[in-house]
This record gives sequence, C-alpha cells and structure tokens, in this order.
Amino acid sequence: MLDTLRHFVNQTPLTLWAAAIVVFTAAELVTRQPVPWRRRLVNLVNGSAVLLAIFFAGPIVAGTLHWLKRSLGLVYNPPFMLDFYVQSAPLAALIFLLAYDLGYYWFHRLQHAAPLLWRVHAVHHSETDLNATSYVRQHFVENVLQSFAVMVPLLMVVSVMPRTIAWAALISATAQFFAHAALPIHFGPLSAVFISPRLHRIHHSADRAESDSNYASMFPLWDVLFRTYRPPSSRPERTGLHSGERLVGLWPLLSSPFRRRQTTTTPMT
Ligand SMILES: [Zn+2]
Ligand SMILES: [Zn+2]
Repeated sequence: MLDTLRHFVNQTPLTLWAAAIVVFTAAELVTRQPVPWRRRLVNLVNGSAVLLAIFFAGPIVAGTLHWLKRSLGLVYNPPFMLDFYVQSAPLAALIFLLAYDLGYYWFHRLQHAAPLLWRVHAVHHSETDLNATSYVRQHFVENVLQSFAVMVPLLMVVSVMPRTIAWAALISATAQFFAHAALPIHFGPLSAVFISPRLHRIHHSADRAESDSNYASMFPLWDVLFRTYRPPSSRPERTGLHSGERLVGLWPLLSSPFRRRQTTTTPMT
C-alpha cells in the first residue's frame, strides 16, 4: 500500500503542483486578493480527479507511442534527439515546451471551435474567480485528450532525456499556476514572450471576442504569429462562460460535458 502511494506520488506532478499552489496562494493572501475559499477547495478536489486521470492515462499514452513507433518501424528512435543538439537541460526543456506549446495552441483553438471539445473545455472556462487553483479546474477528460492530441505526436518526432522532462515539468507547472493566480502582474513589453496572470485573464473573459485569443499556455509568441494575441489590458474583465452559466460545486464540474442540457447551472450574477 505504501509502495503504491509512493509510486503514485513519484509518477505524477502532485508534488510540483502542491508546491506551486502553496507559493501562489501565499502570494494571493499577502496581496489580499478576494478569492472564496470554497472555490479553491472545489478546484483542489477536482484536481485530484485530474491527477488520477494522468496516473491512469500515462501507461495508455506510453503504450500508444510504443505501438505507433513499431507500426512505423522507427524502432523507438524519434528523428530529432533534442538532448543531442542542446546540452543544457533547462534550455532543452524550454525548446521542448516551445514545440509542445505550438501543438497545444492549435488543439486549444480547436477546443474553442468544435462544440464537442468545447463541452469539455468549458469546465476550465467556468472559473469566475481566477486563482492559483484554477489551473486544476479542468475536466479530467481534457487531460487525456490533450495527451493524445499534443504529447503523442510530439514524442513521435522529438526524444528527450528524463532530466529534460523533469525541467519541463518544473517550468510548465510554475507557468500554469502563475498564469491563473489572482495577481495583477504582466510583463509589459515582454508580455508576448511569456505568459502572465493579466494576459491569461483575457483568455478567461466572459466576452467571447476576448476569450477567443491568447491560446498559448506558456509562449504567447504563437498567438502573435497566428494573429490571436491580445495584450494585457488594465481594465478588469469579467471572467466565466460566455453563456452566463455557472458550474457550482464538484458534481456539476465532473458531469457537465456529458449532460444533454446544463440543468444544474444557474445564471451568472
Ligand atoms: Zn480556452
Ligand atoms: Zn486557463
């Protein structure tokens, strides 16, 4: 039992996520950001479903990669070995994440355009009080879809060593929890280089014209390149779903994509 638990902790981003949530929640408390504690709690409990999905999806993703590589006769050697060309693990991780973010950018755009995918992604956009726990307010199905749509194709082309994966996980977790924190921070003229809370808040706007922008999860350069970039504005945008619906509590979050009609939602006030 203890070994199973230790294996679970080692094989998931649990520790990293917990550390990032503690650091950015502390920053929100120090700067006195008004975030309801119940909201944080629901997001954290939902996050445990996300972690479980990652835990169970990991072997399936690895098995799919194994099968694909055998089918294509690649004998487990993707054509581009990143660590061979870039010796520094942090730099290799940044390059790997830049490539990942390009794939994520297009998957994310598709999530906003395709009604079926939007049903799942809408759970993340249902956040009305962005805070350090909002990153884990996403439907667990979204993580599985993202793994197959973005990570599997990327790992078919690029191979990276475990130390680079570790750096990528650290940078990615920091960026994601930072981007959702209730902190009035942006990087001014460098806003198009790296994600910030003010920039990502625009993506969570209840105004669809604003939320259909800033799709990149770490490097807004992709939004600049594909003309979906909106610089951080100083005015406080209202966040949440365009429809005005609210998902309150854990069960509405988990069941929302599967409901024919969102009968447990209430109008936004
Ligand atoms: Zn989105
Ligand atoms: Zn978000």
